[in-house]
Amino acid sequence: MAFEGLAERLQGTLDKIKGKGKVTEADVDEMMREVRLALLEADVNFKVVKKFIKQVKERAVGQEVLKSLTPGQQVIKVVNEELQELMGGEQSKIAHADKPPTVVMMVGLQGAGKTTTVAKLANHLRKEHNRQPLLAAADIYRPAAIDQLETLGKQLDMPVYSLGNQADPVDIAKGAVAQAKDEHRDYVLIDTAGRLHVDEDLMGELQRIKEAVQPEEILLVVDAMTGQDAVNVAESFNEQLDVNGAVLTKLDGDTRGGAAISVKAVTGMPVKFAGMGEKIDQLEPFHPERMASRILG
Ligand code: GDP
Repeated sequence: MAFEGLAERLQGTLDKIKGKGKVTEADVDEMMREVRLALLEADVNFKVVKKFIKQVKERAVGQEVLKSLTPGQQVIKVVNEELQELMGGEQSKIAHADKPPTVVMMVGLQGAGKTTTVAKLANHLRKEHNRQPLLAAADIYRPAAIDQLETLGKQLDMPVYSLGNQADPVDIAKGAVAQAKDEHRDYVLIDTAGRLHVDEDLMGELQRIKEAVQPEEILLVVDAMTGQDAVNVAESFNEQLDVNGAVLTKLDGDTRGGAAISVKAVTGMPVKFAGMGEKIDQLEPFHPERMASRILG
């Protein structure tokens, strides 16, 4: 699980300060040095780390005393709150159109987990929100993507809209939205093509789909294992497409987790969901509060 290394490192530092009846500026400085290293090791963007440390220090040193907590505990509380803030503060939910269907476009690089996440999100929407989605297979380039989505659709007993791999992805997206309207589906989740790198062709196609179907939500699927690269990818997609939120996949892996902490701070785009495994039910809404607590152990 991601953050294990980070949590472990922070734990030692926090333990040292936890019971202290009096915390000096030197204590805070020492602790912040450790926190800084731990965050950098977890592959959090260095500018984000710098700002974070500065903010925690300012608040931790000058804060008013709460009777219920020891000074050590108060410093930890500040770290927790700032960490939460860094990840977006409140939980950021998926859009829901006043008039169905809500159109969601799933974008990202190849291998990030788009197709899998389309199915996971469909399952989540039905199970947790009682919504009926239609899946749309608009990734016509990756050889197995359409079959993969159809298999997942069968597994979920959910319809998949496809025109094969010779059609224009824009027509596929438009056709899917039309069918969803006819059948009174609540959501259309469009699986789009990815490439190994961000390139103009990919962005051009995604922009054409966006233009044609005017999605309520563009979700960027990024692989948390790629650390700061994930954040750079998020910046590029956001510049070109004005993305509404990110889904971080593979947070179950042995990743350092830095992307989860930096994406919002660097790009302004909130993380909405986290992929915690390959199975269809392994998608969780991203809660900054719970994540901060998980990181701090
Ligand atoms: P796409 O090219 O972006 O559509 O990627 P896929 O959906 O085909 O996923 C690529 C690989 O990542 C597959 O083997 C998935 O099972 C795997 N995968 C996707 N999400 C997760 C996740 O949250 N955790 C883990 N461990 N694997 C994932």
